[in-house]
Amino acid sequence: MLTPQSIIAVIGGGTMGAGIAQVAAQAGHRVRIYDIHPGAAARAIDAIATALSARVAKGKMTASEKHDVESRLNTAQSISELADAALVIEAAAEQIDIKQAIFRELAAVCSAEAIFASNTSSISITAIASGVEQPQRVAGLHFFNPAPVMKLVEVVSGLETSPAVLESLTGLAMRWGKQPVHCHSTPGFIVNRVARPFYAEAWRALEEQVAPAGVIDAALRDCGGFPMGPLALTDLIGQDVNFAVTCSVFNGFWQERRFLPSLIQQELVFGKRLGKKTGQGVYRWPLNESLPYLPAEPGESDAQEIQHHGFAAWLNNHDSGDSVTYSYLELDDVLVQMTQGETATQLAKSLQRPVVLLDLVNDWQSSPLVVLAAAASNTVVQTAKAIRFFQQQGKQVLMISDYPGMLVWRTVAMLANEATDAAQKGVASEEDIDTAMRLGVNYPHGPLAWGAELGWQQVLRLLENLQKHYGEERYRPTSLLRQRTLLETQHEH
Ligand code: NAD
Repeated sequence: MLTPQSIIAVIGGGTMGAGIAQVAAQAGHRVRIYDIHPGAAARAIDAIATALSARVAKGKMTASEKHDVESRLNTAQSISELADAALVIEAAAEQIDIKQAIFRELAAVCSAEAIFASNTSSISITAIASGVEQPQRVAGLHFFNPAPVMKLVEVVSGLETSPAVLESLTGLAMRWGKQPVHCHSTPGFIVNRVARPFYAEAWRALEEQVAPAGVIDAALRDCGGFPMGPLALTDLIGQDVNFAVTCSVFNGFWQERRFLPSLIQQELVFGKRLGKKTGQGVYRWPLNESLPYLPAEPGESDAQEIQHHGFAAWLNNHDSGDSVTYSYLELDDVLVQMTQGETATQLAKSLQRPVVLLDLVNDWQSSPLVVLAAAASNTVVQTAKAIRFFQQQGKQVLMISDYPGMLVWRTVAMLANEATDAAQKGVASEEDIDTAMRLGVNYPHGPLAWGAELGWQQVLRLLENLQKHYGEERYRPTSLLRQRTLLETQHEH
C-alpha cells in the first residue's frame, strides 16, 4: 500500500526525474533523488525550487508551502540510500541495460514490497522486468513532459506485473492529481503510438508538396481544432526526439508501413535542424507566420443559383444534427462537398462537372479558416465561386493541391484507425485511449469518439479511397473499424 507517508525514490535528476520528484513532494511524500552524475540530483532540487518560486509568484502556492515541499526533497549519494523507499520511479537514460542494472541494484537493498516503476517511453516493461528477480513488482509509470503540468499518466503493465502493483500505482496517480490510464506494454504505449499519424500525415503532405508547412499546420490547428500544427509541434519537441520516437515505434512494430519515418524529418535531424532549440527546424524560430490566405474575391460574379443540401443547416448551426459529411452545395454548376477520399479531379471526371472539395472543420462557428482543393479540370471562374462563397461566410480560404482525403480529414481518419487497432488488440480500453489522447497531447476529441461522431462509415470510405488511390497498406482500415460501420444506421448520400 502506498500512502502519503511512503518514501518515494526518483532515479535520474534530469527533465523528467525533477518533474516527477516535484509532483511527489507536492503530494506530501518524502522524496530521495539519485543521479549517477555527481551534482545532478542537487541541480534537480534547484530546478524544482525555481519552479516552485514561479508558483508562489503566480499565487498558486504560499511561501510556507514551498518551504514544506522543499524540506521533503533530498538527494541520495548511492542506491543503497534508497533502501527505505516504498516506490522507486526510474527516469534515467533510455537504455534497457541501464534500467535493468538500476532495478537489480535496488532489488538488493529495498524491501520485498517496494514497487519499481519505470518512466520509459519506448522500452518494453516486460523486458525491463525480466532482468529483475521479482518481475511482478515492476510496472511502467509514464509521465508526460512537463510532469507537474500534464495530467496524464500511463500505468503500463508487463507480462508479469501484479494487479496489486497496478492498483497501487493507479490510486497513487489519482491522489497526485493525475489522470491514470492503463495499458499493456506495447510499442509507444497509447499516446506515442496513436499519435503517430498526426505527424506522419503532415510529413507526407509536405513530401507530396501539397502545401507549404504553414498551410498544413494552419489546417490542422484552425480547422482540425488541434492546439498546434503537427510540424510546428515537432519543432517544439525537437526533430531528433520526435524522429527517435517514430523510429522506435516503426521498429517496435516490425517495420509496419503505416509508421514509416519521414525522409524529410531524417534530413532535418542529419542537418541538426532540430527545431526551436537550434533556431531552425521545419521553421525558423522565433516563428513568424504569414499564411497565403486568398484575397477576397469581388462579389459581382456571385453564383446565380445556390442549392444547399443539408449544408445550410450546418453552416448556420453546427449542432443541427445534420452532419456536413453528408451534405453538399451547388453553386450554379459547381459542386462543393467535403472530401471523402477521392480527389476533386476524380470526382469531376466521374460526375462530368466542376468540383471543389472542402477539408474537415471541427467546429464551424469558431474556425476562422476553410481549406479547399479544386479539380484540375475546373476553370478559374468555377473555383472562384466556391472561394467567394466561403469568404462570404466570413472565412479565410487556403487552397491546397488536389490531395485525396485532404489534410484534416485524412489525419483524423488515420488517428481513429490507429485507435481502433490499439483497442482491438487490447492495448487499453476505448475510454482510456480517448482519455490519453485528450490529456496526453490535448486533442480536441478522443479519436474513437471523433470517429463515431463523424460516422465510422465515412471514416471507412475515406480510408478505402486512400488505399485505392495509393495502393498502399498504410491506409488499410482495421477490422474493428469495419465492424463499427455495421452497427451504424445507413446514411443517405
Ligand atoms: P534526461 O537526460 O534529462 O535525464 C536523465 C538523467 O538520468 C540524467 O541526469 C542522467 O545523469 C541520469 N542517469 C543516467 N544514467 C543513470 C544511472 N545509471 N543511474 C542514475 N542516473 C542516471 O532525460 P529525461 O528526458 O528526463 O528522460 C528520462 C527518462 O524518461 C527516459 O527513460 C525517457 O525516455 C523518459 N521520458 C522522457 C520524456 C521527455 O519528454 N523528456 C517523457 C516521458 C518519458
